[in-house]
Amino acid sequence: MAQPIESGIESPLSSSPGAPTPGEVGADFSEAEGWFARAGALPKTLYLSLHALCLVALWNGPSPGDLALCAGMFFVRMFGITGGYHRYFSHKSFKTSRVFQFVLALLGLTATQKGPLWWASHHRHHHKYSDQPGIDVHSPKEGFLHSHQGWIFNGRWDGTDIEQVDDLARYPELMWINQWHIVGPVMLGVICFAIGGWSGVLWGLVVSTVLLWHATYSINSLAHVWGSRRYRTKDTSRNNWMLALLTFGEGWHNNHHHYCASARQGFYWWEVDVTYYILRVLSALGLIWDLREPPSHILRANRVR
Ligand SMILES: [Zn+2]
Ligand SMILES: [Zn+2]
Repeated sequence: MAQPIESGIESPLSSSPGAPTPGEVGADFSEAEGWFARAGALPKTLYLSLHALCLVALWNGPSPGDLALCAGMFFVRMFGITGGYHRYFSHKSFKTSRVFQFVLALLGLTATQKGPLWWASHHRHHHKYSDQPGIDVHSPKEGFLHSHQGWIFNGRWDGTDIEQVDDLARYPELMWINQWHIVGPVMLGVICFAIGGWSGVLWGLVVSTVLLWHATYSINSLAHVWGSRRYRTKDTSRNNWMLALLTFGEGWHNNHHHYCASARQGFYWWEVDVTYYILRVLSALGLIWDLREPPSHILRANRVR
């Protein structure tokens, strides 16, 4: 078996952040990495172009095969974001081998949400400074649209703050794909073309990616304004079962802000958490291990009622 990675950050974000220091707040995300990111307006133009291409796809209408490809690519890549970029790279809520770590990184890369270090550095920043206007990367207090997607168009967040992800930056293969993140969507486009021709690209890559973007962003926006609060966290995070179904468990966002070191976000059996079920299967196969669970005192602590 490949060498296990024992670098799990011990609950780095599970405690309350306290007052930010000027150095922390001044985290530097400004230096965009890779030729694609440095190409100025290109990533933003691509973002808008994919939305426009969705109209072309809808105008043409999908075949049953197109719809199946779209749904399949959504499912696989949603797990790449939730199980890979979020619960592993951002929170280290389980352990794995270096080889499977790379597989998770590649899977996340196909979701067209840039590289794993970029994603994790911004997400860790969000947990440290949740909801603080002017500091939190996608604070809902700066408006719903800003938290949903407006922040993406602010050049301040183009780069990766390596200091936030120094535990990941020591792997050269992760640094490489973080820089060459465009490889992910290109790879996916080739696969979709091989399966369904240009129609396959339109539905498997374009429509599926736009749906995936907005499902992911709904956790930054809707899950901070819509739903119920079980725990008194220092932010506005909510639990919302509809968002949890859409995002494979990420909608239990108040649970997650309460104890983000956990591999499961649905804390009880009735809180459906598809990502956690998949992680349990991967654990049974021996590909990952040491899944972290919320201890009973955490489950009881700081309840709203
Ligand atoms: Zn949040
Ligand atoms: Zn998180």
